[in-house]
Amino acid sequence: MQRYLFGNVAKLQVPVSMALVHNHVRPSRRLGTRGFRAWVQEPDRLTLCVCECGWAPELGQHFRTRARCPCEICRVVRRVRALLRRNAALGEWSVSA
Ligand SMILES: [Zn+2]
Ligand SMILES: [Zn+2]
Repeated sequence: MQRYLFGNVAKLQVPVSMALVHNHVRPSRRLGTRGFRAWVQEPDRLTLCVCECGWAPELGQHFRTRARCPCEICRVVRRVRALLRRNAALGEWSVSA
């Protein structure tokens, strides 16, 4: 479940159990400008990558989505997930054949 955040970063509060995430657009201190979006959600290591862009350091660690992250780990994760999907598809196909 995602809850989008609005307004100024300085006024934000992030619940301890939630992960702070932003999209792939260049971060801004003001949420919602030029397509930049941030939200809180349940932490999920499979889909979230620790982001070290320096945005909002007062809010602690934050994440970005692996789907659009250029880092090497995310590239590997995307490749593995694609392979798993393809294998699963092949499996279903051979079972029903
Ligand atoms: Zn970031
Ligand atoms: Zn990454």
